[in-house]
Amino acid sequence: MKFGGTSVADPDAIGRLVDIVRTQQAKAAGGAAPVVVVSALAGVTDALVTVAQLAEDGESDRAAAALQALEERDLAVAAAVTSESRTRVLAEVRREFQELIGLVHALAVLREVSPRSRDAVHAVGELVSSRMVAAAFADAGLSSAWIDARTVLITDDEHNAAAPDMAETCARARARIAPEIAAGTIVVLGGFIGATANGVTSTLGRGGSDYSAAIFGACLGMDEIQIWTDVDGMVTADPRIVPRPRVVPQLSFAEASELAYFGAKVLHPSTILPAVSKNIPVRILNSRRPENAGTRITADAMPDAGRLTAIACKRDVTVIDITSTRMLMAHGFLRRLFEVFERFKTAVDVVTTSEVSVSVTVDDTRWLEAILDNLHNFAEAGCEREMAIICAVGENLRGDPTLFGRAVTALDRIPLRLVSQAASRRNITFVLRDSDVPHAMMRLHEAFF
Ligand code: ADP
Ligand code: ASP
Ligand code: MG
Repeated sequence: MKFGGTSVADPDAIGRLVDIVRTQQAKAAGGAAPVVVVSALAGVTDALVTVAQLAEDGESDRAAAALQALEERDLAVAAAVTSESRTRVLAEVRREFQELIGLVHALAVLREVSPRSRDAVHAVGELVSSRMVAAAFADAGLSSAWIDARTVLITDDEHNAAAPDMAETCARARARIAPEIAAGTIVVLGGFIGATANGVTSTLGRGGSDYSAAIFGACLGMDEIQIWTDVDGMVTADPRIVPRPRVVPQLSFAEASELAYFGAKVLHPSTILPAVSKNIPVRILNSRRPENAGTRITADAMPDAGRLTAIACKRDVTVIDITSTRMLMAHGFLRRLFEVFERFKTAVDVVTTSEVSVSVTVDDTRWLEAILDNLHNFAEAGCEREMAIICAVGENLRGDPTLFGRAVTALDRIPLRLVSQAASRRNITFVLRDSDVPHAMMRLHEAFF
C-alpha cells in the first residue's frame, strides 16, 4: 500500500491512512499485514529540491531558512499524529534535520552539489515521513515496524534516477520484511529512496515512491500493489487539462505503461515493470474516498468495443529534425544518429522518418547544444522547442481501424508536426505545439469519452 504526498500531507490525511490500513488488515485472510510505503509530506520534496539549488548557488542563509520552515512543519505533523512515541519521533526528526542542515551548509560553502549529495538532501522527506507514519500506527494500537528503505532497496549508482538491483533487493526484502508480515506487523518504509551497494543514499527519480511500492510488492509476492493518491483512479485525461475526466475502471499493464510514460503522473513510468514480472495486479485508489473501486491494472484487461482507454500528454518537449540527403538511408546512418543520444544519456520518445529526414522528440534538453553539435558532424540538424506529445492509448487500436480516423478528425485544423503508431498498435502519438495542447486534449476527450 503506497500513500503519495497528499495522502500524508497533514494530521488528518495520516489519520485517514491509519484507518485505511486498519480496514485492509481486518479484511485480509488471517489478519495478514500489508507493507506500507509512504512519500514525503506533500510539497516537501519540491522544497528540498529548492534547498539543494540554493546550496549550489551559495545561498547558505536562504537554504537554512527554508530548512527551518520544513523542520517546523514536520515536527508539527509528527507531534499531532503521535502520542506515546511522540518524544522519540520528535528527537528522530530533529536529528535528521540537524544532519541535513550541516550537509547543506557544507554544500553551500563549496557551491557544489553532486548528484550524490542531491540524493542525500532529497531523501530526507521520506526518511522523516515514514518514521512518523510507523509511530502513528503503533500509537493507534497496530503492531508496526519502521525499516530504513536504504537497508533493503539496493540500487546502482546512477544517482537521481537509480535502478534497483532486484536480486539483492528481493533477498533483503525476504530476509527483513517477510518475517514481520508473517508476524502480523505492518512494515513502513519510505518510498523513492534506496542505497547503493556501498551504502550511499540514492533515489529512484521524482515520483519514485510508486516504483518502490511495486519493487517491494514484487519481491514479496504480494496479492496486489495499491497506489493510494488524490484522484479516483487513472482517469481518461489529465484532470488539470480536461475538466471532469472519467475514471477508467480497468486497464492492461501495457496501456498503463504507455499512459504513465506519456504523462499520466498518477503512476511513475517504471511502476508497472515489477508488477508485470510477477503478474501482480496494481490498483489506484483515492485516500479521501477509500470506498470507491478505483482503477485495476492487470495483464489482460480489455476496454469495451469502439473505445479508447485514455489520453495523456507530455508537455514542453523539443523536436530535433535531422536531415541528410546524401546518407540518410545508407546503412549505419541510424546507428550513428542514435549513438549521439546514447553518448549524452538522453532518451528519445517519439521517432518518425521520411525519405530525407528523421525527427525525434526529447524531454531532457540539458545536452541539446552538444547533441546538435555532434549531429552536425554528419547531417543537418535543427530543433524546435515548446512542443508537446499527445498519446491516445487503447488495446482496441489494434483491431478497430476507425479509431485512428476518428482521432485525426477530432484534431481537424490543429497543425500536427509528427504522427506515429508503433508496432504495438496500442497507441497513436501526435506531436504538436505545446500551446495547442489544451484544445487538442479537449477535442479528443469529447470525441471519445
Ligand atoms: P501522489 O503524490 O499521490 O503520488 P501525484 O501528484 O504524483 O500523486 O499523482 C496524482 C496526480 O496525477 C493527480 O492529482 C492528477 O492531477 C495527475 N494526473 C495526470 N494525469 C492523470 C490521469 N490520467 N489519471 C489520474 N491522474 C492523473
Ligand atoms: N517524494 C518524491 C517526489 O516528490 C517521491 C514521490 O512522491 O513519489 O518526487
Ligand atoms: Mg506520484
